Amino acid sequence: MSGTGTAEAAAREAADGFRAVHGGEPAGVWAAPGRVNLIGEHTDYNDGFVMPLALPHTTRVAAARRDDGVLNVHSADVPGGTVRLHVGKQFPGGGTGGWAAYPAGVVWALREAGLLSGDSGRTAGGADLYIHSDVPTGAGLSSSAALEVSVALALNDLYGLGLDPERIALLCRRAENAFVGVPSGIMDQMASACCTAGHALHLDTRDLARRQVPFDLAAEGLRLLVVDTRVKHALGDGEYGRRRAGCEAAAEALGVRALRDVPYGELDAALARLSDPDLRPLVRHVVTENERVREVITRLDAGETRAIGPVLTAGHASLRDDFAVSCPELDLVVETAVAAGALGARMTGGGFGGSAIVLVEEAGAEEIGAAVTGAFAAAGHRTPRLFEAVPSTGARRLDG
Ligand code: ADP
Ligand code: MG
Repeated sequence: MSGTGTAEAAAREAADGFRAVHGGEPAGVWAAPGRVNLIGEHTDYNDGFVMPLALPHTTRVAAARRDDGVLNVHSADVPGGTVRLHVGKQFPGGGTGGWAAYPAGVVWALREAGLLSGDSGRTAGGADLYIHSDVPTGAGLSSSAALEVSVALALNDLYGLGLDPERIALLCRRAENAFVGVPSGIMDQMASACCTAGHALHLDTRDLARRQVPFDLAAEGLRLLVVDTRVKHALGDGEYGRRRAGCEAAAEALGVRALRDVPYGELDAALARLSDPDLRPLVRHVVTENERVREVITRLDAGETRAIGPVLTAGHASLRDDFAVSCPELDLVVETAVAAGALGARMTGGGFGGSAIVLVEEAGAEEIGAAVTGAFAAAGHRTPRLFEAVPSTGARRLDG
């Protein structure tokens, strides 16, 4: 809804949903976006560099505080009604299972940090939450972080916690890693919490140093298309863990804290020092990918936005050939788009399905999109979902 409609309409809709489900008035409505990553893939658990931008698609949370320790969570986007949890009984102590683990994990992380506990003199930290989103789920566009960050922002305001966006991102990551049980890096939560409209966020995932890099595509007659392949290959989950473990093993073998500490100029020497040949392509991807982030920044700072296209496409080749996290559908998007005249294209997010991004001249956008859709039909794949990634604003309160 907010991807296409106004913030006011989205806030009104969420507030109406809250009244219908929970009764009474919400204290406010908060929103947090999904993201695409422009460049810097599988670098965030190697202390490396990433460059996400926020999508106009958001998760909205209409919320009211409860002081009886009950957490009622309702999502308009999943069947099954309201999930009722008792903060004192089920927290801490493991996941709740299902989607409710995401909002529950945020409450858990806040309590773990002493922010919603008796220690701080505050009451148990319950809430009524009504959630509604237009971020596609499981499409590599980070609906999970949008959910976590929107809930954390709501609780931050409801309980007057005074947390800044970086702290919110860190707590949400902890919720996802330690409570939900997904070993993701920090990119998604930082993107959702910290991105600004018209910019990509250059983020150093080691110390969270960041810079908003102007990325106003419309002003230059360019567009960034997102192609959601609508496939998710089952092997993805285990393979992600294997890549992480491989990167850690390589860093240890090379005597560095993380692969980010292997300089690009010393890549060949580092590869020669690795006795396990399976680790070499992992290292090559991470080191060259960090270099590609630097290259994209250099070109953007020089005002040469079109020149980032080949860097994006080279990033895809590295993810496909060295890191081996692509799939036939993602490869088909990139091949077709580039052959049809796109400036560059790559998979975005973890891989094994999900989405790709395609940088195009505005004038060619429709034709290139049609070429991709046609190629999917010819190959017998599901019809992909296409939309434009307009660099949008990060998490915020929608009303008041
Ligand atoms: P991604 O973050 O790329 O969309 P994930 O697998 O990390 O994919 O997260 C998707 C999961 O997050 C969903 O399966 C669901 O459990 C939860 N989720 C995301 N958005 C919502 C929502 N609006 N309502 C309920 N659950 C959601
Ligand atoms: Mg996710």
